[in-house]
Amino acid sequence: MARRKKLYEGKAKILYEGPEPGTLVQYFKDDATAFNAEKKDVIEGKGVLNNRLSEFFMTGLANIGVPNHFLKRLNMREQLIRQVEIIPLEVIVRNFAAGSICKRLGLEEGTPLPRPIVEFSYKDDALGDPLVPEEYIIAFGWASQQDLDDIVALALRVNDFLTGVMFGVGIKLVDFKIEIGRIWDNDFMRLIVADEISPDSCRLWDIETGQKLDKDVFRRDLGSLTDAYTEVARRLGVLPSNVTHAAKPHVIN
Ligand code: UDP
Repeated sequence: MARRKKLYEGKAKILYEGPEPGTLVQYFKDDATAFNAEKKDVIEGKGVLNNRLSEFFMTGLANIGVPNHFLKRLNMREQLIRQVEIIPLEVIVRNFAAGSICKRLGLEEGTPLPRPIVEFSYKDDALGDPLVPEEYIIAFGWASQQDLDDIVALALRVNDFLTGVMFGVGIKLVDFKIEIGRIWDNDFMRLIVADEISPDSCRLWDIETGQKLDKDVFRRDLGSLTDAYTEVARRLGVLPSNVTHAAKPHVIN
C-alpha cells in the first residue's frame, strides 16, 4: 500500500500528487491563520465549507468562461485541480476600503472606492507579502506586461461575477484575493485562476446589517467562524449535508 505523495503543505491546504499527469489533489484543512500566522487555531468544519464554496465559485466562473484550475470535487475535503505554475503574486481586488488599504491611506473602513482597484503583493511569508508595483513584477520577471494585462482582466471578471453572486444573496463583496497560475497547452501558455476562492480570501459583509461573514471574524474574534461560513454557504445553497463528520486525508492503495 503506497501513501500518495504530498507535494506541498500551506497554511490552509495540502497539495498531493494527482491521479493523472498535470493534476493535483487539493485538500482543505481546518487550520486558520491570520497576521502572517501569528494567530492560529483549528476551526472544525472550515475545510469542508471552503472545499464546497471554492467548488461553487470556480464552477460558476468556468460557466461564464473564466478559466480556472478546478476539475472536480472528490470528497468532503478534497478536489481535483489542474497543476499550474503559480505566479508568486497575490492579486487583490477592492471595491470598498478595508484592511491594509485603510491603514495605508487612512481611509475609513467601508468607504466606497472610485472604481475597483487591483493591486499585487509578492507572495513571501517571511517578508509579510509586501505590496509591489507592476514595475517590480516586470523587472524581476515574475510576470510580463502582457501577463499583467491578462491578470487584471481576469481579476475584474472574477470581481464582477463574485459581486453579482454575492449581491444576489444579500452580501457585499468588499475585497478578495486570487492567485493565478500558468498552464501550457503544447507550446501555448495560458493564465488561469488557481488556489481557492472562499471566505478565507474575501471580505463579505451582510448588506443589511454589515455583519462580517469572512475571516475577519477570526482575525478580530467576532464570534464563530464556522457559523459565518455556514451562513454564506447556506445562502448560496451549497451547504454540505454533514459538516461535522469531515473526512480526514486518506491513503490511496
Ligand atoms: N488576503 C488573503 N491572503 C493574504 C492577504 C490578503 O486572502 O495573504 C485577502 C484578505 O482576506 C482580503 C483581501 O485579500 O479579503 C485584502 O486584504 P488586505 O490587503 O486588506 O490584507 P489584510 O489587512 O487582510 O491582511
